[in-house]
Amino acid sequence: MSPGDLPSGRSPAVVRRDGLFALHQEAERLRLGLGKSSPWFYAHLDADSACYIFPDPAPYYWPDADAGRHWWQCRVPVRMIDGEPVTSSLAVLPETFTALPSTVPRRRQRRLAFTSRLTERDVYLWGRDHDTVCSPDYCGYTSPG
Ligand SMILES: [Zn+2]
Repeated sequence: MSPGDLPSGRSPAVVRRDGLFALHQEAERLRLGLGKSSPWFYAHLDADSACYIFPDPAPYYWPDADAGRHWWQCRVPVRMIDGEPVTSSLAVLPETFTALPSTVPRRRQRRLAFTSRLTERDVYLWGRDHDTVCSPDYCGYTSPG
């Protein structure tokens, strides 16, 4: 399998920040174990960028992804408020996923899969670096604590 192939053969779904947050809320509500609806995450996502979601299970979940697991491990390349592209993971129910809009041309799908697999920085690492400058003045986020 080349890095540009989508293992599931599914087209990526496309949502905006609110849609992605709703998916995180569902993952948290259903305790799927991958994805939390944190206000911090929402506040630090670029509001103007499209968010792509595609099933992309880790090798140890593959090819038995359907065995005993009723959700799909999805890769979600996102753009943060400073413009940096990072990657994240999210559990999505198959029926939820198939109901999402998908309008990504085939060539773009392969490029998307390829580049997001090459993106090693994830939301956690981005947040760790951002933490030193995070403030209402810098990024607009006010910690609830
Ligand atoms: Zn911040």
